Amino acid sequence: MKTVVVGTVAFDAIETPFGKTDRVVGGSATYISLAASYFSKEIGIVSVVGDDFPQEMIAIFHLRGIDTAGMEVKAGQKSFFWSGKYHMDMNSRDTLVTDLNVLADFNPVLPANYRKAEYLMLGNIDPNLQIQVIEQMNKRPKLIVMDTMNFWMDVARKPLDRAISMADVLTINDEEARQLSGEYSVVKAAKAILKRGPKYLIIKKGEHGALIFHGDFVFFAPALPLEEVFDPTGAGDSFAGGFLGHLARSGDISFSSMKRGIIFGSGMASFCVEKFGPERLFDLTQAQIDDRMHSFIDLVQVDIELVG
Ligand code: AMP
Repeated sequence: MKTVVVGTVAFDAIETPFGKTDRVVGGSATYISLAASYFSKEIGIVSVVGDDFPQEMIAIFHLRGIDTAGMEVKAGQKSFFWSGKYHMDMNSRDTLVTDLNVLADFNPVLPANYRKAEYLMLGNIDPNLQIQVIEQMNKRPKLIVMDTMNFWMDVARKPLDRAISMADVLTINDEEARQLSGEYSVVKAAKAILKRGPKYLIIKKGEHGALIFHGDFVFFAPALPLEEVFDPTGAGDSFAGGFLGHLARSGDISFSSMKRGIIFGSGMASFCVEKFGPERLFDLTQAQIDDRMHSFIDLVQVDIELVG
């Protein structure tokens, strides 16, 4: 396996100003692996679900070339469930319910062929599990990318700090960066967080794009202005999937490659929000992805003549 993704595979109930769903498939590993599958192959998921999880979704993972040998199915138990409600601007949301269910006593055991992966994505999940996965790798992967959220900052700060210290790239949103660092300015927050271990920090700002910080350098990728956003759930994970998928495909983990990675990540996030749940990521074509990437290039490219 070239890339291993640990995270949740779940059911979500989502309410946005434009609609409501009672139960759709979601979870961080779902969005990450689907988005990454358009760039790179040999992706394996490490997660756990109950026997309520639909076979149809597992079949979609397989159709996309995603391996599920690391995804445990627990008989007689329920999958992780999360419910959230978006505010009018869709950049912020309230978590209504987090039912850990099968995740409460999950002990990931990586299949032997996952332990040699070069790229490890620690999707949003209990940081203790993120650490357990790192510790099962035969040798340190070439790149460890990690995502997390405020929930884990509130309930598992110590293991979270340890997991962060083990990652190369951390992806969080601006509110989480403030909570993690205690700094209001995102620039100061980034400096403080980079001192804790990761060499790169990506701060996601929803419809206002994303920033990647590295040493004294910073680069910005806009989010594509879309006419209609139905459901932002999974946008951050699709972003991470596009980012990681690009790095795994190119094999280049330089800062320049990461800059391109956050543009590809923004492209995948822009698809994700167009439908409820992960559906938009089931059957994209290469032509649709290329077309979207051209829109990004058009959005930011400009010739400027300086007077001075
Ligand atoms: P995103 O919108 O990119 O932050 O990701 C949303 C996904 O994260 C949803 O599909 C949820 O199932 C999942 N999720 C929500 N809360 C948690 C949590 N505490 N731990 C892990 N995954 C979560």
